[in-house]
Amino acid sequence: MNASNLQWFPGHMTKTKRQIADDLKRVDLVVELVDARLPLASRNPMLNEMIGQKPRILVMNKADMADEEKNRAFIDAFKAQGIHTLLVNSNSGEGLNQFTQLVNQALAEKLARAKEKGMRYIPRLMIVGIPNVGKSTLINRLAGRKSMKTGDRPGVTRSKQWIKLQNGYELLDTPGVLWPKFGDPEVALLLAFTGAIRDEVTDMEELACLLLKRLRVHYADALCARYQLDELAEDDYDLLEQIGRKRGCLQSGNRVNTERAAAILLDEFRGAKLGRITLENPEVK
Ligand code: GDP
Repeated sequence: MNASNLQWFPGHMTKTKRQIADDLKRVDLVVELVDARLPLASRNPMLNEMIGQKPRILVMNKADMADEEKNRAFIDAFKAQGIHTLLVNSNSGEGLNQFTQLVNQALAEKLARAKEKGMRYIPRLMIVGIPNVGKSTLINRLAGRKSMKTGDRPGVTRSKQWIKLQNGYELLDTPGVLWPKFGDPEVALLLAFTGAIRDEVTDMEELACLLLKRLRVHYADALCARYQLDELAEDDYDLLEQIGRKRGCLQSGNRVNTERAAAILLDEFRGAKLGRITLENPEVK
């Protein structure tokens, strides 16, 4: 089962919350993982409440797929809110050389206290995030191993283990899998674009048109370049047809098969074939 196809329902959410609350008692710091392409939409609405005062760092993953300029803007915005933030690519490990330093910053008080008392202190961490943000990839990367045996389905009971990291710290080998913000239709849409909640949306053509509506605002050049278009049609559906025609998605009567065009566009967007794209802007708070 693909983690992105998880179905959330109230009982399941309650159970997940309880499990995470239980794990939280055993760790010193929470690593909140988000997708750099949608760093706000990919956060969990309840996490702040669940974590309380426990130290936390925010890791923006998939930095390689996100817009570099917006990566910087988001880092600045999160830091301005006092959140210890790091930008990484868990596939390559890029950015993770700063990981220990950031954890140490977030745990500065505890580390200083332990040092004062001359006590040996091994920080314990856990990773949390919504499906598909790259939790397993990051765990494997931090652990220095290739793959994880079991899926991260909540509700699947297996004994948890501590992974010893290179810096000597300990990481819970099972991430906390949180649900996304369902309440906000815009958020649901952004998550559907990246495939994080792909089952929720059935009409691929509509999804593709809504994606085009957003892409044409900041990423018109990327669309023109990818689909060899001189100009973008003003209407989103017409634009989808333009793309389909360029890609030879034709059916009888020389009409464009827009379903196929939609599948191509979404697939290429999800594969970062259109270049580095971020779908949100930092909120001014
Ligand atoms: P999880 O559901 O949060 O555990 O997510 P996974 O670790 O299974 O990752 C979901 C998908 O994102 C996989 O196809 C990973 O290869 C991919 N992925 C994870 N991290 C990165 C990253 O930093 N960059 C890119 N390009 N892909 C990533």
